[in-house]
Amino acid sequence: MSETLENLSSETRQFPPPADLAANANVKADAYEEAAADRLAFWAKQAERLAWAKPWDQILDWSNPPFAKWFVGGELNIAYNCVDRHVEAGNGDKVAIHWEGEPGDTRTVTYSDLLKLVSQAANTLTDLGVTAGDRVMIYMPMIPEAAVAMLACARIGATHSVVFGGFSVDALATRIDDADAKVVITADGGYRRGKPSALKPTVDEAVARTGRIEHVLVVRRTGQEVEWTDKDKWWHETVEQASPTHEAQAFDSEHPLFILYTSGTTGKPKGILHTTGGYLTQTSYTHHAVFDLKADTDVYWCTADIGWVTGHSYIVYGPLSNGATQVMYEGTPDTPDRGRFWQIVDKYKVSILYTAPTLIRTMMKWGDDIPAKYDLSSLRVLGSVGEPINPEAWIWYREHVGRERTPIVDTWWQTETGAIMISPLPGVTAAKPGSAMTALPGIGADVIDDQAQSVPNGGGGFLVLTEPWPSMLRTIWGDDQRFIDTYWSRFDGYYFAGDGAKKDADGALWLLGRVDDVMLVSGHNISTTEVESALVSHPSVAEAAVVGATDPTTGQAIVAFTIPRGNVDTAGDAGEALIKDLRNHVAKTLGPIAKPRQIMLVAELPKTRSGKIMRRLLRDVAENRSLGDVTTLQDSTVMDLISSGLKTAK
Ligand code: ATP
Ligand code: MG
Repeated sequence: MSETLENLSSETRQFPPPADLAANANVKADAYEEAAADRLAFWAKQAERLAWAKPWDQILDWSNPPFAKWFVGGELNIAYNCVDRHVEAGNGDKVAIHWEGEPGDTRTVTYSDLLKLVSQAANTLTDLGVTAGDRVMIYMPMIPEAAVAMLACARIGATHSVVFGGFSVDALATRIDDADAKVVITADGGYRRGKPSALKPTVDEAVARTGRIEHVLVVRRTGQEVEWTDKDKWWHETVEQASPTHEAQAFDSEHPLFILYTSGTTGKPKGILHTTGGYLTQTSYTHHAVFDLKADTDVYWCTADIGWVTGHSYIVYGPLSNGATQVMYEGTPDTPDRGRFWQIVDKYKVSILYTAPTLIRTMMKWGDDIPAKYDLSSLRVLGSVGEPINPEAWIWYREHVGRERTPIVDTWWQTETGAIMISPLPGVTAAKPGSAMTALPGIGADVIDDQAQSVPNGGGGFLVLTEPWPSMLRTIWGDDQRFIDTYWSRFDGYYFAGDGAKKDADGALWLLGRVDDVMLVSGHNISTTEVESALVSHPSVAEAAVVGATDPTTGQAIVAFTIPRGNVDTAGDAGEALIKDLRNHVAKTLGPIAKPRQIMLVAELPKTRSGKIMRRLLRDVAENRSLGDVTTLQDSTVMDLISSGLKTAK
């Protein structure tokens, strides 16, 4: 991106918070002023929401940037903060997790149950020789034991590295090697799409390949046949027989908590290291502020998998540190049918729902009649994370899920940031559909040009974080130099997030996708996100992915891959007519410069396992290259389908 990004879209709709929510909000407008007056004092106050065994001597040590230390000298135990202290406060009988298995089996886990399980798992890991600082891999389905395993590691100071349960042998083995782990916690399998799907064989192969693993702890979930080696131990024969008491020991605020590999949208995943005190401070505070969690009355549900950072920060550490009652769901959104999510909301009276644009667009594709069948009146705050949310998907979410009442918080953050950085506050912000709005209190963010100058309102450029924040990554595991090169070298003194963004006339922030994805068409820098949003604003389109492909006349030309909504006829001439209509629609919405050279109607898009569109693969296809790293691709057949479709269309 040589110049600033063009600012093409002109979204003007705006939705102020409901009056009752605003009046009773956990965090009000004064938080911004308070944080602006003294940022470090603001974060120290949020850290005091936690229980510390030893107070800190210094809030932030930034004497050796970009290596930050937060709450220096302080000590705390994360599991104690997420579990024990709620039981000690008399909330042991409160439900921590309403767990819903895909086949419809359920479990209710109270905070007392959680304390027992986490203590037993901590004792078992200790018996297996795991000590503070060791790395433990977690490769699990979405069952309560996944959260228990993470908390048990945190309790004894072991560093966990969760690998999404859908990843291959290769992905698991490279992460085991990179993290140099000695124990794997897994399960025989989990339920996906109506049937048991095995996990253990993948672990067996990865363990055989790496040779580093000493023990494998296996939860029995599906009861399917498993091979057994002398490294394997059943969870129910060890953890569930272990002593239910365990004294949590405090660890240094900068003790390593977890390593998590990024989702690999732009290339080879990076092992992001997070530590203890600052991470818990910011996940806990943001969960309280952004979702307005009322621990006594809300039922919270985050639909992410614990294999992603969203699952770490907003299923495990944020909600449990706040004593929330939450729903955890094992399976897919279309099992046994496409109403499953709404049936769960209805059944548990979910009041706060946090999900991803990819799911919202999928629900749009499936049709409005599906959510309409359920009672969704318990919902009061809706959240979105993972990708830019297109304005039309935002509006659909508000109308068909929020029933025109609920605020939507579009939360921008990354594996690297550990916690939400840019988001509306539901009781404060008049949100605009498609904008993450403003940096949260205590967070410094800006949009700058290639000379590192802040762009004026109306301009676009590179999103940077201007101040260190408590839950920031501390390094890339084992590779400090890559940490410096990747995030801190492009602009002196700023963290460069890799995303493009613009400021609108009011200074609200609009995320425009990865800067690597920005297209240069006849000398104009155009964002893939804006063209995609223009396509999604057409009533026949559910989803779109846009890339810039080399073009002899314009430098790059816009190529769009588009998924029609469920009820749209695309056969023969109807398809041709729709494509023509879509090209004109984009030209009308954004201007002729953004008119796609080519639009393909496709059934699926290549996505990472976390549901993000992998534009770099589409660019490879559009430019006739062989595909780059596909290890995090969800469904490898999608690319074959798209490539063959493209060839026949040419
Ligand atoms: P990799 O870094 O390996 O390419 P990744 O960036 O997809 O993978 P994550 O850390 O899971 O891995 O994703 C963070 C990215 O997701 C952000 O940099 C941004 O591009 C996108 N993102 C997340 N939330 C939002 C949001 N609310 N609006 C716009 N983009 C978002
Ligand atoms: Mg990234």
